[in-house]
Amino acid sequence: MNAERQFRRAGARAAADAARQDFLRAGLAGYGHAAAGARRRFADWSAARDRCQEVKAEALAHLDAYLLRFEERVVARGGHVFWAETAAAARDYILGVARRHGARRVIKSKSMVSEEVRLTPALEAAGIATVETDLGEFIVQLRREPPFHIVTPAMHLRRGEIAALFQRELGAPPGADSAEELAGAARRALRDQFLAAEMGITGANFLIAEEGLVAITENEGNARLCSSLPRVHVVLTGLEKVLPRLADLGLFWPVLAAAGTGQPITCYNSLIGGPRQPEERDGPEEFHVVLLDNGRSALLADRERRDTLACIRCGACLNVCPVFHTIGGHAYGATYSGPIGAVLMPQLGGLERFGHLAFASSLCGACTEACPVKIDLHRHLIRNRRDAVAAGRGRRREGWAVRAWAWLAADPRRYQRAGAVLRRLLRVRRVLPGEGGMLDPLRPWTRARALPAPPAESFREWWRRRTAAPPARDSHD
Ligand code: SF4
Repeated sequence: MNAERQFRRAGARAAADAARQDFLRAGLAGYGHAAAGARRRFADWSAARDRCQEVKAEALAHLDAYLLRFEERVVARGGHVFWAETAAAARDYILGVARRHGARRVIKSKSMVSEEVRLTPALEAAGIATVETDLGEFIVQLRREPPFHIVTPAMHLRRGEIAALFQRELGAPPGADSAEELAGAARRALRDQFLAAEMGITGANFLIAEEGLVAITENEGNARLCSSLPRVHVVLTGLEKVLPRLADLGLFWPVLAAAGTGQPITCYNSLIGGPRQPEERDGPEEFHVVLLDNGRSALLADRERRDTLACIRCGACLNVCPVFHTIGGHAYGATYSGPIGAVLMPQLGGLERFGHLAFASSLCGACTEACPVKIDLHRHLIRNRRDAVAAGRGRRREGWAVRAWAWLAADPRRYQRAGAVLRRLLRVRRVLPGEGGMLDPLRPWTRARALPAPPAESFREWWRRRTAAPPARDSHD
């Protein structure tokens, strides 16, 4: 089945699951309230967004120079930097490092780039046990499914479902379903993994060019353990994550926390510059940074789309998107879901495979308003639609429908007559047997949506009737 058909099926299934949607919406609304509170703590949130946009634009305009500076600093401290042009190159390099060190066990902290390059399946296929250590990622790994959301991978699961999973997979006692008991069960399962792993893999939230530092922000402390306990630490990151100066973190760390989870600042914030130095007691013996291109250079060269590389993966656009609220993350069938996924995936994974995602939007613009780095997301979606249609990915029936609409809307009388006919047809449909059944022509639409009863008259008819009637007497006259 092709990707578009899969998306339509999965989306329709998710859209028909009202209970799951209510649960999801409640969770996303919680993030929305928290983010609104966190934004209010800024003296001027709008100025903070403007500045973030400027800093990222500057970083992208001089990305080549900033990346070389970053590399120079890391290498000077004894680290290694590998430029991976493709996902396969990144996988091969990391596998090579693991093999050289005889690694049998790898611990990972959350990294969407590692999902993008399909790193875990490659390590597992090479006989290297790979354990996710972020709680949400650990849960979805036990379920053998991809992350549901780029920030909160297991947000689609209820506590009871996680408790049942832990009983089954970790031998947790029945009834242990409080947040504390579940976190305790995961911690006990992960502790030995942290101590036994020969290699740790993390992502990076930012790369600081001037000082050659990797900045990681997280809430569980697991990334800090992944980067400091094993003998080898590998950072896998997209090459667009650059910030020019350390001082920029003073803005980006709180902005990322506010937009993503509604926190004033995330709990653990680490800066890593290389392997353990002679005067240091902790840290890895070997340190690698893998800078992934995988289509990013082409995006950088495209002036129309370059700003999409400014994304800091906060997830705010997903949290406000009505389509994401309805179908959730798995239906997209893509590493990055929601508005940023619909914008990025056709660029990173090909228009042929992901061109249809641009049509999964109401173009309401809520994503653009929520984005802390001011990426014009809904305009990018329109551009992707334009390109998809130009590449022959538009649907013929939609084209006919739009042309018919344009023809009707061009003449007011024609439009009114069509409205009257449509209202009559909808009324007839409601009294026919089998409304909503297999023979109902509107079934594809109404299967997962409510169709309100058509009004008895048009707005114009109502207005004519209202203005023709004598004015109602004021009871105080
Ligand atoms: S596009 Fe903007 S809102 Fe969406 S994840 Fe990226 S930074 Fe956050």
